[in-house]
Amino acid sequence: MARLYDSRKRILVTGGAGFIGSHLIDKLLEQGHEVLCLDNLFTGTKRNIDHLHGNPRFEFMRHDVTFPLYVEVDEIYNLACPASPIHYQHDPVQTTKTSVHGAINMLGLAKRLRCKIFQASTSEVYGDPHVHPQPEEYWGNVNPIGTRSCYDEGKRCAETLFFDYHRQHGLDIKVARIFNTYGPRMHHADGRVVSNFIVQALSGLPITIYGDGSQTRSFCYVDDLVDGFIKLMDSDGSIVGPINLGNPGEFTILELAKKVIELTGQGSELVFEELPADDPRQRQPEIGRARTLLDWEPKIPLEKGLQFTVEYFNRLLPDLVLP
Ligand code: NAD
Ligand code: UDP
Ligand code: UDP
Repeated sequence: MARLYDSRKRILVTGGAGFIGSHLIDKLLEQGHEVLCLDNLFTGTKRNIDHLHGNPRFEFMRHDVTFPLYVEVDEIYNLACPASPIHYQHDPVQTTKTSVHGAINMLGLAKRLRCKIFQASTSEVYGDPHVHPQPEEYWGNVNPIGTRSCYDEGKRCAETLFFDYHRQHGLDIKVARIFNTYGPRMHHADGRVVSNFIVQALSGLPITIYGDGSQTRSFCYVDDLVDGFIKLMDSDGSIVGPINLGNPGEFTILELAKKVIELTGQGSELVFEELPADDPRQRQPEIGRARTLLDWEPKIPLEKGLQFTVEYFNRLLPDLVLP
């Protein structure tokens, strides 16, 4: 649906009422584009997009990506999918359907419109990696029948579909493999480590360390991630991915807990609980490709990003009903 007179695009963001999607929408609107936000509100919330109410360039549509969608847009960002273990394990069959049927429908839409399509893939495609840090060439170590498989294998199959539509139908695809991301608008009760620790500390509850806390993760602040999404979408047609997007700074879970305690000024005690099944030992992105091809790297250090996130939860906390 190319426009004759301006460079303003109409952009579809699936999963747009979620944590990352809502930040992406803010940025796209800031750039002057029109945004169609599509979401079934399974894990997302209207609170994340409330501030956009009344913006004439913003539109919300309640829809499930597992069903076909007939709209007219210039670009598609496909983010719809529950992302945390608590959420994606709630209805694992629906999780796989969302990744696989959702990808087929959005790819079918992109094929009809001949438009660019971006896929929010994940570091989980590497599973519990035997290679560290993980470059895009690594094929991963994923359990196909475990409790995380609905998410991991669903996302892997979505990548397969993206590359087959690219090869078979010449579609312009952009596949990003996202590593752990945090920031304001994270779901307060999705069990992810950053939100859990901050909510626990601010509520004066003990901080729950699963296992001995020596496992590592690399945390990327959401604004940095969204910049990477847009750089990838706007990149040359020869760049299809997959491209790792994440912050290479690696921290143990115990180190994260200590930083949160420091920042919140709370004296929460640490309690050690059982490590969940298939919990990866280490995770760190190798972002050489993003640096070279997109001239992208994260800028916001963990302490700064955690501070913004603590401020968000501090404002939100009075409205929260804690589990
Ligand atoms: P989120 O749960 O906040 O957002 C996902 C959104 O998708 C929600 O608003 C949800 O309601 C919506 N959704 C779920 N199923 C849907 C369906 N069938 N139809 C329409 N909408 C549906 O999660 P997030 O952290 O913002 O993640 C966004 C994307 O990024 C996901 O695809 C996720 O897999 C990917 N990702 C996130 C991270 C991270 O650390 N947050 C890491 C890797 C990948
Ligand atoms: N589709 C959609 N919107 C469109 C075009 C297609 O949702 O504008 C969905 C539709 O459900 C279709 C799927 O995308 O089954 C895959 O489309 P494709 O053209 O690749 O294959 P088809 O199944 O139509 O042969
Ligand atoms: N984790 C933890 N305490 C919590 C929540 C999570 O120790 O309250 C651990 C979890 O076992 C994992 C790491 O923190 O090792 C990151 O968990 P998260 O669910 O945020 O991300 P993922 O495992 O999907 O990378």
